Amino acid sequence: MARILVVEDEKRVAAAVRRGLEANGFAVDVALRGDDGLWMATENPYDVIVLDVMLPGMNGFRVCASLREAGNWTPILMLTAKSGELDEAEALDTGADDFLSKPFSYVVLVARLRALLRRGVRERPVVVEAAGLRLDPAARRVWRGDVEISLTAREFAVLEFLLRRRDEVVTKTEVLEAVWDYEFEGDPNNVEVYVKRLRQKIDAPFDTKTITTIRGAGYRVDSRS
Ligand code: CA
Repeated sequence: MARILVVEDEKRVAAAVRRGLEANGFAVDVALRGDDGLWMATENPYDVIVLDVMLPGMNGFRVCASLREAGNWTPILMLTAKSGELDEAEALDTGADDFLSKPFSYVVLVARLRALLRRGVRERPVVVEAAGLRLDPAARRVWRGDVEISLTAREFAVLEFLLRRRDEVVTKTEVLEAVWDYEFEGDPNNVEVYVKRLRQKIDAPFDTKTITTIRGAGYRVDSRS
């Protein structure tokens, strides 16, 4: 029997969803707050999570992002507001697997949940947000605020590596090993060239300073720069 967590603060909706899902043979737990939902999802192995967006304690986007950051890839179906295109984009960005806009029919909800259960857990790289930048590894896109920045594949890979290791000093050798085929292109000058190009794209137009050169050691990106 599939075990489902429903995180929904409207008690009437939560109760109806529970009845509907139980009638379809699911075992259902309900959390009425976002923070409670996060805790339950962390403590118990669910097969799928139904997650409302607007919740007391912690909103659904934060719950979803927190689970993904912690390496929890339980399939999540997010309940978004009616005609909420932005909500839907954000739901997918934060690592939700599917979304359903309210009001929804239980037949559709059950069909979507069965599809997620069939598909199972699918690990995906998480969107990285630091130093005013937002980097989506799956879509290979990066933004500063609302402005999308166009990067080559190699520039993107260097930036992703630096952002994932943010607040640490990273050596040029580490960047080379992560981004280049070390044996064939093991020249640290390559890293300098790419860092310079990155600065021209992610910093110069915005009057920011994201990548700090640590003399004799390498580079560091500060989360809050
Ligand atoms: Ca709500």
